[in-house]
Amino acid sequence: MAIRFPSISSSILDAVGDTPLVEVEGILAKLEFLNPSGSIKARIAKYMIEKAEEAGLLQPGDTIVEATSGNTGNALAMVAAVKGYRMLVVMPDGLSGERVAISRAYGAEVLFCGDFHVNSALEKARELGAQPHHFCPSQFESEWNVEENRVVLGPEILAQLPDGVVPDALVAGVGTGGTLIGVGQAFREVNPDVRLFAMEPSESQTLLCGEVALHKIEGISDGFVPGIFQRHGALVDEVTSVASADAVGAMRHLARAHGLFCGPSSGAHLLAAKRVRELHPELKTVVTLFCDKGEKYLQEYFVQADSQPEEPTPFI
Ligand code: PMP
Repeated sequence: MAIRFPSISSSILDAVGDTPLVEVEGILAKLEFLNPSGSIKARIAKYMIEKAEEAGLLQPGDTIVEATSGNTGNALAMVAAVKGYRMLVVMPDGLSGERVAISRAYGAEVLFCGDFHVNSALEKARELGAQPHHFCPSQFESEWNVEENRVVLGPEILAQLPDGVVPDALVAGVGTGGTLIGVGQAFREVNPDVRLFAMEPSESQTLLCGEVALHKIEGISDGFVPGIFQRHGALVDEVTSVASADAVGAMRHLARAHGLFCGPSSGAHLLAAKRVRELHPELKTVVTLFCDKGEKYLQEYFVQADSQPEEPTPFI
């Protein structure tokens, strides 16, 4: 049997990536919640910090500051812990308590910006990041974010497909847009006709019609169109939507029916990908990602609310 880590690793950062690709209800799902720090964001956190070091933007003892709805904060806090930087996570109010606690567990300081808007957190992070010996990775703008997805995550998925199989479609929610755009670019290299579907909450259809409202699919649709999407959004073929309640129902279903304990965006990704397959039967190989782990939502969805079995969610 092949051993995933055949020699002694230098740190937990060696365990970032190389996640399984599993078939779930006809969809190929990349299990990104298995990354260290519990989400896909471990990839860009490691990548952006290593690129900044190479570019001379980060020196030992410096402070990393980033606005984040949680997962990127957890991931950067882990990278900062390994590399010995100070980490300042700037967060909007109202996000899951676990993600705040996880950043703190890695030794980060968490600042709240005082309202629900990631935009306010971004402003605060930019202000702090402009100080000497501070570095702001700026995930929503960073081409290093897109690059990681194009040169690492995308090719990793392609290498896991059987010989001769190429992706027909990619379905992904847009937080920064890095995943959809970067992985999409990698897929286009092997299949110029691959269809790229952005997914957003039906309560807040920002990409489709500029709407901004509260929703429960944490990690995506933060209330603005990120710079990455403004620059590269033309690559995307279609925008699809999923209601928060359905995303949460599908999240519960993934744990109970498949043993995949992920967060709401994973549930939303499954529903959106299944709808794509149903509406476009010619798209056979539909790829999506399960981005973060369910433990990050224990208090909100599992500790009390889950004591009684509830009504099954209607599935497409
Ligand atoms: N799902 C979750 C749970 C996330 O945290 C994120 C990133 N914030 C995404 C999906 C979307 O990823 P991206 O930023 O690459 O668009």
